[in-house]
Amino acid sequence: MDKTKTIALVAHDNRKRALIEWVEYNWKTLARHRLVCTGTTGRLVEEAIAAKNGGALPAGLSVRKLKSGPLGGDQQLGALIAEGAVDAVVFFWDPMSPQPHDVDVKALLRIAVLYDTPMACNRSSADFLISSPLMEREYHPTPLDFSSYLGRPVA
Ligand code: PGA
Repeated sequence: MDKTKTIALVAHDNRKRALIEWVEYNWKTLARHRLVCTGTTGRLVEEAIAAKNGGALPAGLSVRKLKSGPLGGDQQLGALIAEGAVDAVVFFWDPMSPQPHDVDVKALLRIAVLYDTPMACNRSSADFLISSPLMEREYHPTPLDFSSYLGRPVA
């Protein structure tokens, strides 16, 4: 992955306030990268960064908004990870409430682990992730070895 990263931002409703506070704190760093978000999170992220930047998004910052999570956004994000189009994920999922799209959430967590995509699921891990020197350098993740799976005998 390049020095400029594609960072995915997602938060469940009860965790949106926490994610937006984190975005407000880190907006200058985030503005050096590309952002991709589930729909509602993306709207809030855009509003928060624009407010911090005097009313408009910083020139050159792209915030790609996928569908809302429960409407397929988590699956779209999982597909982008599988394609190698996402470098890091900040996903503030709600540990206290069942979600209508729990299966999609589980799939997103799984696919990020499968492709060795860095993923922060709470504030402290997001702080560690965003402050890592690796954010500003090239880095090559190590996906799991799929060779025995791909070469398995099938009927
Ligand atoms: P949202 O989706 O940003 O559209 O609310 C988040 C999620 O539940 O995955």
